[in-house]
Amino acid sequence: MRYRRVTGLLSVLLLCFLFGETAIAKPEVTSVRLGLHKDKTRFVMEMSEKPEYNIFFLPNPYRIVIDMQEVSWKPGNKKVRKTGVIENYRYGLFRQGTSRVVLDLNRPVKVLRKVILPPSEGKPYRFFIDVQKTDKSTFQTAVTESRKRQVAMTVPAIKTAPPPKNEKQLNIIIDAGHGGIDPGAIGKSGVYEKQLTLAVARKLKQKLSLNKRYHILMTRSNDTFVSLRERVNFARKNEADLFISIHADSIGRSDIRGSTVYTLSENASDDEAAALANTNNKSDVIAGVDLEEQDDTVQGILIDLAQRETMNFSVKFAKMLIPEIARSGMKVGGHSHRFAGFRVLKAPDVPSVLVELGYLSNKKDEQILKSEIGQRKLANSIALAVDKYFEAIKP
Ligand SMILES: [Zn+2]
Repeated sequence: MRYRRVTGLLSVLLLCFLFGETAIAKPEVTSVRLGLHKDKTRFVMEMSEKPEYNIFFLPNPYRIVIDMQEVSWKPGNKKVRKTGVIENYRYGLFRQGTSRVVLDLNRPVKVLRKVILPPSEGKPYRFFIDVQKTDKSTFQTAVTESRKRQVAMTVPAIKTAPPPKNEKQLNIIIDAGHGGIDPGAIGKSGVYEKQLTLAVARKLKQKLSLNKRYHILMTRSNDTFVSLRERVNFARKNEADLFISIHADSIGRSDIRGSTVYTLSENASDDEAAALANTNNKSDVIAGVDLEEQDDTVQGILIDLAQRETMNFSVKFAKMLIPEIARSGMKVGGHSHRFAGFRVLKAPDVPSVLVELGYLSNKKDEQILKSEIGQRKLANSIALAVDKYFEAIKP
């Protein structure tokens, strides 16, 4: 009896130890502002704790990236007004433990001064960065210098376990589009694409997990950023049998609605598909990832022979998926299977599709995508297509 009480107490202590870390409040960024001064543009963050930061520069397009300890971001994601050399900025979780701010610049700049002021007169920590326009070569030097300091950045977001595969098991990767600092499209109601893709991805995982033949893996299971390359590599390392990328983008016309399924192709099926691929391929740029270090993403989409074989399977799945989505009640148009150069579909040995569940630029679609029942129906329709696909390709 006494023994039991002791082990009980120990497990409580253990739980406190395990979860204690997440219980500790994160430092808060309470406000952010941009200021235009004579000859310089100022970026200021007010924080409840001293920032531990790392700044680096990225070209094409010109950006300054500020990585710091994971913070809770109070200012929200309001629309930013262009100020001096700063066009825009974004905030989001980049990695567990690392928050990121990306400043988009309209020209090459140099940092004149960065200062942390300690709390005083009721004000918290203030972190100032003053920037000023400079020439391309000075900026390039800063890029090269800061690349050297980015060792920590190369740590992959997704820890890849060795494939747990046995002969009968099928590895399915569910890829919730966007995440963390990359919100994806933004709906009329202010909902982010990254929230909806994750919600549907989770429901799809739940549904598919009921089948013991399937081993389900997710490229992300929380609101964090994962680069396109990491998503592709994750699928390859796990010898995935199928890769399903989930999106809900927006386009210029609010009357267009419905689901579309995309597969990879060097040449897009139409201009809209090309534009959509282009938007989704920008994810890494938005998140402040150094594209020069990722040669395979800098070069366009070149498809090799092995990939063509794989693509037949992708197309097969895409064609089975469309009628299932239609049966769920979601509109699917005449051109519901299209193709374009989506980088996330590039694993040469993994049949991959990208599902645009609907358009956040359309009110009705947004409504469906935001609703529990809409998400559930869409997830179930994808799961049904998965069953049919594996049944159809069975040797
Ligand atoms: Zn998207």
